[in-house]
Amino acid sequence: MTLAADPSEPPNPPIRTDVLIVGAGPVGLFAAFEAGVIGLSCQIVDILGRVGGQCIELYPDKPIYDIPAIVSCTSRELVERLLAQCKPFDAPIHLEQRVDTVEQREDGRWTVRTQRGLVFDAAAILLAAGNGAFVPQKLPLAEAGPLEKRHVHYSVPRLADFADANVVVAGGGDSALDWALALRKVARRVTLVHRRAGFSAADSSVEQMRRAVDAGEMDFVIGGIAALNVEDGGLRSLTLRQIDGERQLEADHLIALYGLVADLGPIAQWGLTIHGGRVDVDTSNYESSRPGIFAVGDIANYPNKQKLILSGFHEASLALRKAYAYAYPDKKRVHVHSSYDTKLAEKIGAAG
Ligand SMILES: Cc1cc2nc3c(=O)[nH]c(=O)nc-3n(C[C@H](O)[C@H](O)[C@H](O)COP(=O)(O)OP(=O)(O)OC[C@H]3O[C@@H](n4cnc5c(N)ncnc54)[C@H](O)[C@@H]3O)c2cc1C
Repeated sequence: MTLAADPSEPPNPPIRTDVLIVGAGPVGLFAAFEAGVIGLSCQIVDILGRVGGQCIELYPDKPIYDIPAIVSCTSRELVERLLAQCKPFDAPIHLEQRVDTVEQREDGRWTVRTQRGLVFDAAAILLAAGNGAFVPQKLPLAEAGPLEKRHVHYSVPRLADFADANVVVAGGGDSALDWALALRKVARRVTLVHRRAGFSAADSSVEQMRRAVDAGEMDFVIGGIAALNVEDGGLRSLTLRQIDGERQLEADHLIALYGLVADLGPIAQWGLTIHGGRVDVDTSNYESSRPGIFAVGDIANYPNKQKLILSGFHEASLALRKAYAYAYPDKKRVHVHSSYDTKLAEKIGAAG
């Protein structure tokens, strides 16, 4: 499996594939393996900068107990195993690419574009997009919008951008603590602001942060951000609301790491039948109301749907068997059990 070399470079001509998989969560990753088994080429796209979907974004270190034949593993281990399983098929994964528009051509194939200019030419589309594209939870303050990317940030693309600045990092999760600790080495001063004394970050990060505060390397303040104080178009300070009143905190940059929220986003405009933010499917093949577009995993909607990883695996397997008919309309696919599939054994053996 490879990462696209430079996702900002629009390829020319479009990337041709049998199946475009939208979403590199657990179901999208399993689908990449299953596509390979069935004999379909695929490309995977995810808006995030890493694979794993909810497993990595929301509960990486929590144990999972209901994956068949795995008594227990953490969410992160499950994603590592899924990556290892699909590695022999080497499907390219294009990260930080949100799939935006879709058009069906006269020959029945699909042209799909991402917001950063990638274009795919696919016989079928497999939506494994979970609850939609994860986007950062933004500050609920009107003055934050005009300051975005200059003084207010929702991610840290380059540490060097914060050199010698007063930086406030807001949040209590792993990202907030990890970035506050990393930034203390380059910034003039780093203050971590969280609304309570407890954190949802890993215990080891919390301990490291407390040691850094005790050593005078950074500050930690309990409070909520009530206002951003702007002078000459730039951020000068924050007003913090605390139990005993308000206080001002000097800041050149505010990095708000409050976690991610999911938004179905552009897929909602694709002309699919959608209920409750999920795509209606036919459970015989998980095809949506637009033939050739399939929905599997959490994004699929049907009676008694369970948002479980194992349900998504089954759905992907059936959907891809139907997708084969779009990619190879003149070929009849003969099913061979994997235990008797010598080509598959060679492929997996060669990669292992
Ligand atoms: C705290 C917690 C614990 C859980 N525990 C369990 C458990 O023990 N067992 C279990 O079976 N399930 C569990 N689940 C549920 C399980 O995590 C989900 O069912 C599973 O993640 C669904 O996988 P998915 O691949 O369908 O979607 P997701 O994991 O949501 O992945 C979807 C991916 O699609 C990407 N995407 C969306 N829209 C776009 C777009 N337009 N362009 C590009 N990319 C896009 C997203 O960025 C994301 O990476 C748990 C969930 C939570 C929150």
